[in-house]
Amino acid sequence: MTGRASPALLQVDQLRIGFARPDGGRGIGIVVDGVSFSLHRGQILCLVGESGCGKSVTALSLLRLLPSPPALHLGGSIFFEGQDISSLSEKGLRSLRGNRAGMVFQDPMTSLNPVMRIEEQMTEGLRLHRGLSARQASLAALRMLERVGIANPEARLRDFPHQLSGGMRQRVMIGMALICDPSLLIADEPTTALDVTVQRQILALMRELMRATHGALLLITHDLGVVAQIADDVAVMYAGRIVEQGPAGVVLGKPAHPYTQGLLRSRPDVFVRKERLETIAGTVPSLWKIPEGCAFHPRCPHVMPRCREQAPPFFVLSEAQARCWLLE
Ligand code: SF4
Repeated sequence: MTGRASPALLQVDQLRIGFARPDGGRGIGIVVDGVSFSLHRGQILCLVGESGCGKSVTALSLLRLLPSPPALHLGGSIFFEGQDISSLSEKGLRSLRGNRAGMVFQDPMTSLNPVMRIEEQMTEGLRLHRGLSARQASLAALRMLERVGIANPEARLRDFPHQLSGGMRQRVMIGMALICDPSLLIADEPTTALDVTVQRQILALMRELMRATHGALLLITHDLGVVAQIADDVAVMYAGRIVEQGPAGVVLGKPAHPYTQGLLRSRPDVFVRKERLETIAGTVPSLWKIPEGCAFHPRCPHVMPRCREQAPPFFVLSEAQARCWLLE
């Protein structure tokens, strides 16, 4: 159950993020262009799209984790628990990150400190944000390892990250992100580096833990199979914009935007034998060369002259909405 009658936990409106040129040249590349969405307690929203579409930059900007420069906040607002993220001081941000909002990244090896034992890493947030004693924090870490399904947690607490398997490390990361009981969990491709069976377990675990705490989950993925397994709602991104959004069952069951349709057609289906897997022609445009009009037009099988000149607005369908002139 999502609490959609109550105010949104996270409200993102017309977010615009650009990057300065790495060579110091003139011009700004727009990576996130007018992105808006809201997230309520109990809701699982997936941001989906190919690499380079702006979904990870969107996620990082929510907790102001992008280095600036080169990243530039060009406009729009982010409100979390009614608080304007852009107005937070460094101290305010520290109390937000890892406390009221947790984050899980794709590769736990780059997020876990290789020279610190799991116990030290798991208890750090509790001691910092909750003021627990070493013994209390250690007990809480032990309980969290049990909750995320790690066998023999006493021994694992004494391990270093390299002594754990990939799936165990990702469980530790999820445990660390949830240990302070955040109301929001942001997970950026959390299962991409894992094999399929472990991926399923991790997704089920995240869904179960967020449901149990009535928290909200924002999951970033390029994999529509992951969306189908876990999402209540989905927002499909292309070239920095959301091009289709709505309930996951509706968007995946009856996709309205040619890009979403293409993504779905290019998924392998183990039950249907195909001589060749379909692909979307072309590649995601560089942020320095976003096409005029509808940014998808160079790859779209339905392109019309108008698409090359005018960017389509959102057209509201019965439950979802999509940016495509075909829906006018
Ligand atoms: Fe294709 Fe035009 Fe729709 Fe863009 S607006 S997705 S180019 S039909």
